[in-house]
Amino acid sequence: MASTTPQPTQPTSTAAPTAVPVPAPTNTTNIVILGGNHAGLGTLHTLARHTIPALQRLSSSPSTYKITLLTPNTHFFFKPASPRALIQPDLLPGGEGEDKIFRPLSEAIKQYGDLVTVIRGFAVGVDMDKKEVKFKHVDVGGSGDGLFVPPSSTDEGVVRYDVLIIATGTKARSALWTLPSGPEVQTFKSAHEVVQKQWGEIRTKLKNLQSPGHQHHNILIAGGGPVGVETAGEVAAWLKAEGKTEGVTVTLLSGSDRLLGRNCGEGLGRKAEGYLKKNFGGLVRVRHGVKVVGTADSSPAGGAGAAEGSAVQDEEAAQKETTVTLSDGSTTTVALYIDATGGSGTASAFLPSTWLDATGRINTDEFFRARGPSSSDSPSSGAAAGGIYAVGDVVSGSDNTLISTNFQVPVVCSSIGVDLAAQILGPDKEGNGNGVKLPAALKQKTYKNKLSGTLLVPIGPGGGVGQVMGWGVPSFLVKVMKAKGFLVEMVEPAVDGSQWK
Ligand SMILES: Cc1cc2nc3c(=O)[nH]c(=O)nc-3n(C[C@H](O)[C@H](O)[C@H](O)COP(=O)(O)OP(=O)(O)OC[C@H]3O[C@@H](n4cnc5c(N)ncnc54)[C@H](O)[C@@H]3O)c2cc1C
Repeated sequence: MASTTPQPTQPTSTAAPTAVPVPAPTNTTNIVILGGNHAGLGTLHTLARHTIPALQRLSSSPSTYKITLLTPNTHFFFKPASPRALIQPDLLPGGEGEDKIFRPLSEAIKQYGDLVTVIRGFAVGVDMDKKEVKFKHVDVGGSGDGLFVPPSSTDEGVVRYDVLIIATGTKARSALWTLPSGPEVQTFKSAHEVVQKQWGEIRTKLKNLQSPGHQHHNILIAGGGPVGVETAGEVAAWLKAEGKTEGVTVTLLSGSDRLLGRNCGEGLGRKAEGYLKKNFGGLVRVRHGVKVVGTADSSPAGGAGAAEGSAVQDEEAAQKETTVTLSDGSTTTVALYIDATGGSGTASAFLPSTWLDATGRINTDEFFRARGPSSSDSPSSGAAAGGIYAVGDVVSGSDNTLISTNFQVPVVCSSIGVDLAAQILGPDKEGNGNGVKLPAALKQKTYKNKLSGTLLVPIGPGGGVGQVMGWGVPSFLVKVMKAKGFLVEMVEPAVDGSQWK
């Protein structure tokens, strides 16, 4: 599997994409990771710290390994803390606000020196025959910031892989919760700036509530999962703390017949509804059985007219109201609409649909090796998928939690280790390393979510509802475990790699 052709690879598209200047000697195994957040970064750390050193010890003339991370973001984004960071960033521990949860990838990667190269871009295609990923650059013509391969003057490139790990996660329906990965990022330096811009607009809208000239003061949050419930709690707590409750109602649409419909027992949703009522009274109203089917933004009557300049445009965006159409045919205009209705997989942007489930997530085996084309008339399906793996939210059947991502990462890395070791040691039918005593990093691990049935849902800083491994926990424990700090203590070890022992 090791590539014998020197890198960089030759461009293949007719649009003459730029080859990425990855320096590499011969006999190099090129490992390419798509997506630089929880799953991609965890995989990178594990490969760099454990798998690659173990592979290098297997042979007296070890191969060289190169990891290329292709991702549109310059910063790691700790998504679990985003409901707090969006509404009340000053309450995050350490007083660093948003900076606490957007951390430069350079902090994670510099320690690995030449082993790792980062390309700031997003995948738009994979050629399984040539083993190449085609991508588009972010921030075309920008500086490259030292760590990153400098963007070229054309906006396309290709990178060759021997091992391809897809960790591109999900794309939320709202830009509030996702690192975007399409053309919308290309005018920014990094994907996280798109998120921060949206957050700024929401905060300005909240500050503008009840101001003269605005007819509408209500807030609508769609989505009864943890993100919707947590965000309703944050908004209500902020309104109460600011004394901005007069004439304001926060409506939370569950979109079904209860809150918290996934990954937990039925009673937890009812507990959440009771908690909202008890702590925020009439300020928060929960509605079941209706969904949002359309939205349209408009400037309030007497609001700012057409104006030029980005600051003015930002202010204008923050002034806008939203008219929401519901599935029962009614419409309502609100001062602030927050979409927390989830999202879908991202792999349809670069893989054929035959590799994916209906939600755009990748079909894999239990060890996170991609299955390849699902069509039965495709005898080469196994061969096409050889060397391709998936991890994190983009895996079909994943419950889309950080908890399960954290249990997946060691398994996918062990699959890669086993497959690469077999190439060094020869086919190993017995699974015993051909008599070579294999280190733990090169033995196949199996996946088990040992924290299955765990869900902690803060509803404001004072507490919330939750269960740990199926057992309900009281509000004060939810406060201690999550509502106070929104798990930001997990950021540092995820970024510096110390999480992956
Ligand atoms: C608001 C919110 C709150 C959450 N709270 C919790 C919680 O409390 N507990 C919990 O366990 N889980 C929580 N989760 C889930 C958790 O954040 C995810 O499970 C986790 O982020 C999955 O990591 P990932 O790396 O697979 O995907 P992501 O974090 O989505 O990262 C995907 C990466 O791929 C990149 N990418 C996308 N497309 C491309 C492309 N074409 N080419 C290259 N790169 C690409 C993206 O830019 C990004 O860097 C929450 C999620 C959200 C949105």
